[in-house]
Amino acid sequence: MTAQQHTEQRHIVVLGAGYAGLSAATGIGRRHRVTLIAPETHFLHRVRQHETAAGRPGRRPAIDHVLRGRRVTHHQARATALDLNARKVVLDSGEVVAYDTLVYALGSRTAFHGVPGAAEHGYPAERAAELRQRIAGAAAPGTIAVVGGGATGIEMAAELAEAHPAWQVELVTAGRVGGWFSDRGRAHVLAALDRLGVHLREHTDVTGVEPDGLLTADGRVPADLVVWAASMEPYPLAAEAGLAVDPDGRALVDDRLRSTSHPEVHVIGDAAAVDVPGVGRLRMACATALPMGRYTGRLLSGRTAEPFAYRYVAQCLSLGRKDGLLQLIHGDDSMRTAALTGFGGRLAKAAIVNGVVMSLR
Ligand SMILES: Cc1cc2nc3c(=O)[nH]c(=O)nc-3n(C[C@H](O)[C@H](O)[C@H](O)COP(=O)(O)OP(=O)(O)OC[C@H]3O[C@@H](n4cnc5c(N)ncnc54)[C@H](O)[C@@H]3O)c2cc1C
Repeated sequence: MTAQQHTEQRHIVVLGAGYAGLSAATGIGRRHRVTLIAPETHFLHRVRQHETAAGRPGRRPAIDHVLRGRRVTHHQARATALDLNARKVVLDSGEVVAYDTLVYALGSRTAFHGVPGAAEHGYPAERAAELRQRIAGAAAPGTIAVVGGGATGIEMAAELAEAHPAWQVELVTAGRVGGWFSDRGRAHVLAALDRLGVHLREHTDVTGVEPDGLLTADGRVPADLVVWAASMEPYPLAAEAGLAVDPDGRALVDDRLRSTSHPEVHVIGDAAAVDVPGVGRLRMACATALPMGRYTGRLLSGRTAEPFAYRYVAQCLSLGRKDGLLQLIHGDDSMRTAALTGFGGRLAKAAIVNGVVMSLR
């Protein structure tokens, strides 16, 4: 058997069909047989979850449609364990799938940081559809407290306030709302939230969540519904399996996004701790996960041998359906002063979000 034939017959398993996993699978599947393992039938498209929460119509393509024409078999299942020595993945169905090369792209989930009641009474973005139903089924409008002044919290608060003007939306955060944006960008975010009637509570540590509100260092904040958007964390599967991870549980990788402890495992997207020279540790984002997936698709189908390279360009936010922010940033993620705001910013964000789906292939 020639080396070329041997390479052709490798069985590559991709875990996760988010921005990273799905784009890697379509790229690798141009040349190799790939098994893609993910529980959903339709692309998750997490950056639209705040729209789902607000009752906006979903536009998520079927995964099998994205995979058309590629040598990829979608196995609808959830991985429960990895045996890195035997090179096997254990699924929730009890099946075991063997691999020669594994692409680990399980992404991340909302982190509750052990705050009492947060997981029980708070709705994370992952439960957006349930949140929509709770709002629709409420006897009367009330108060929604959104916890987290980062991008997800801002987008959630704006979208919910615009879709449900009879509800009072409170945005509660330990620091400053959108504090990392340029002065111009942040001023626009605050003006948009103010226009939508969102009440801000900054520098407020949430110490507990109850069925009827938040406990904070400054006292109770009554709320009929709580949205928890504090931050994201990787799934523990990588650490449990014995992959080398950083203190946050993200897998350590080399310059080709291969696990530093198990080079036959490529780790991409939110699950990976990726350090790019001159840029630093990449943040968890669709904007970083998609290029990692596309890169791994090219690497494993023999279309590149170069190290992974990345520079930031912009960060964008939707502020309801008619407003948005496109904040230009330097390659190392520091802010530029320039920002596109208002309807132009909203159109730019929509174009990027729609373009993401096209870039999956
Ligand atoms: C409301 C919201 C808005 C956001 N907006 C932006 C934005 O504007 N810009 C931006 O850059 N980022 C944004 N993000 C962050 C972005 O969504 C994530 O960083 C991104 O989804 C990470 O991509 P990923 O491919 O690593 O993982 P994910 O998109 O999380 O996909 C993970 C995949 O793994 C699957 N999976 C999970 N566990 C298992 C298992 N055990 N077995 C098999 N499969 C499994 C999932 O079902 C999914 O298919 C936003 C996030 C949220 C919640």
